[in-house]
Amino acid sequence: MLRLTELKLPLDHGEGAIEAAVRQRLGLRGDALRRAQVARRAWDARKKSDIHLVYSVDIEVADEAALLRRAARDRTLARNLSPTPDATYRHVARAPASGWKRPVVIGTGPCGLMAALILAEMGFRPLILDRGKVVRERTKDTWALWRRSVLTPESNVQFGEGGAGTFSDGKLYSGIKAPEAVSRKVLTEFVTAGAPEEILTVAKPHIGTFRLVTMVESLRAKIESLGGEYRFRTKVVDFAIAVGRDGARRIRGVVTEAGETIETDHVVLAIGHSARDTFQVLHDRGVFIEAKPFSIGVRIEHPQSLIDRARFGDFAGNRILGAADYKLVHHCGNGRSVYSFCMCPGGTVVAATSEEGRVVTNGMSQYSRAERNANAGIVVGITPEQDYPGHPLAGIAFQRHWEERAYAAGGGGYRAPAQRVEDFLAGRPSTALGSVIPSYKPGVTPADLSLCLPDFAVAAIREALPAFGRQIPGFDMADAVMTGVETRTSSPIRIRRGADLQSVNTAGLYPAGEGAGYAGGIYSAAVDGIRIAEAVGRAMAGQDAAA
Ligand code: FAD
Repeated sequence: MLRLTELKLPLDHGEGAIEAAVRQRLGLRGDALRRAQVARRAWDARKKSDIHLVYSVDIEVADEAALLRRAARDRTLARNLSPTPDATYRHVARAPASGWKRPVVIGTGPCGLMAALILAEMGFRPLILDRGKVVRERTKDTWALWRRSVLTPESNVQFGEGGAGTFSDGKLYSGIKAPEAVSRKVLTEFVTAGAPEEILTVAKPHIGTFRLVTMVESLRAKIESLGGEYRFRTKVVDFAIAVGRDGARRIRGVVTEAGETIETDHVVLAIGHSARDTFQVLHDRGVFIEAKPFSIGVRIEHPQSLIDRARFGDFAGNRILGAADYKLVHHCGNGRSVYSFCMCPGGTVVAATSEEGRVVTNGMSQYSRAERNANAGIVVGITPEQDYPGHPLAGIAFQRHWEERAYAAGGGGYRAPAQRVEDFLAGRPSTALGSVIPSYKPGVTPADLSLCLPDFAVAAIREALPAFGRQIPGFDMADAVMTGVETRTSSPIRIRRGADLQSVNTAGLYPAGEGAGYAGGIYSAAVDGIRIAEAVGRAMAGQDAAA
């Protein structure tokens, strides 16, 4: 099979157009082309007057060798024609018949789920622990915060089955480049579990929150059918670590809140970026943790129609293009960078705290992305050296400080402080909001967001918004509304691991996913889960002398 890339077609092309374009491009007639299947579909909107689709197509031809010989003589064709990469996922190990203890996976976010699935497929029957509840119960608790201002600290947007991305836009695009087979494994497992099939081909796939809930349940059924076992409402509160005479440290088990010690030699630590209490325990137990950079800022909302018009011009509203997104960055005079984060077209801003007396924002969408507003984080990069020096966990204290300020400025009850862009730029508090109605539930209080962010972040965002307005006309419109604070952009720590993917100072402990500082987003966390499961599988299958 060969892959032909850069095949351009108009947005409104008809059904047989792809095959016809392949034939024309390759000069193939009749039976010479046996099959053409779309591998990837993107659109190119760089020129608003000429927005078109760009396909990669996998093709079967009667004489592959002849076509490749021809391509070798034609530089343009050679650039766009190559053998289709092998996307078959192959397990790296099989569980030996005996001689091992079940691996424990902590966390059922995308990282823990994929790690558990791969371990289960290899025959290792993982035990999967999550502090939160099963996803349907968790959904009720999450809605209780949004509708009734009732927070359940162990069951919310951050904690519980499915992890942090369950109530999200379910964007699957990421900056990371995973091996084709691993990437395909993640996406096909998601589709089998209920994600729309188009995620296998479209360049910027998204799932939407509704289907994510069902997917998480389907994945649970599959993992259980392969011998995995789940325990919900089971918070890990301590780690049993043996220290040898030579000082070598090795995990021997985990301790749950109910007081049970579960013995194991292999722990996948996929606890997400909000497990602050668990980070503290790990630090207290001497597991090597370091502070890492993350970002802080606000959520901004505009009418989605404004973004569509700016990005797509006359093509705004086109069914294939859907609701437009954006990605913005501005390097400020004060040395800071401001960028858009986790943009949710046609979505809503959500209350994303997991701790009492604190307000945190994030965004989510349904698959249809049909809500009135576009939202995105507008965040400023921060570093331990400059902003929270001195202690590996200092970033957490920094986050908490600003989350508490936001709670106070919101006036309590998990209402969030909100401000019109015009007021924010003018340095005055908002007393009322304008034409853009904020979507954050349980509600917002017009306020002064400069009280909820460090001064350098306020200055940086004030400089960035007009610059963004030059890229997307109207981005700095007077009534665009900002809601704060956005503090959980990524983990404030890294639990450093070595080349074998184990903690650098605690063998058998595999820090994984976003919380450990090795992923950012659903897709990259899932990919990391596979890498980690492979490392655990190899170790348990006997290549690890200490296992
Ligand atoms: P998590 O998903 O955070 O999972 C960690 C799990 O560990 C949780 O289930 C938690 O209950 C459990 N846990 C923690 N501590 C313990 C303990 N001590 N004992 C037992 N269990 C524990 N990313 C995208 O790519 N696209 C998006 O559109 C997107 N939108 C988002 C919207 C929202 C509202 C939020 C909050 C996040 C969004 N993200 C999005 C980010 C994405 O959700 C995360 O990057 C991803 O979920 C990280 O996966 P993870 O498996 O590493 O950790």
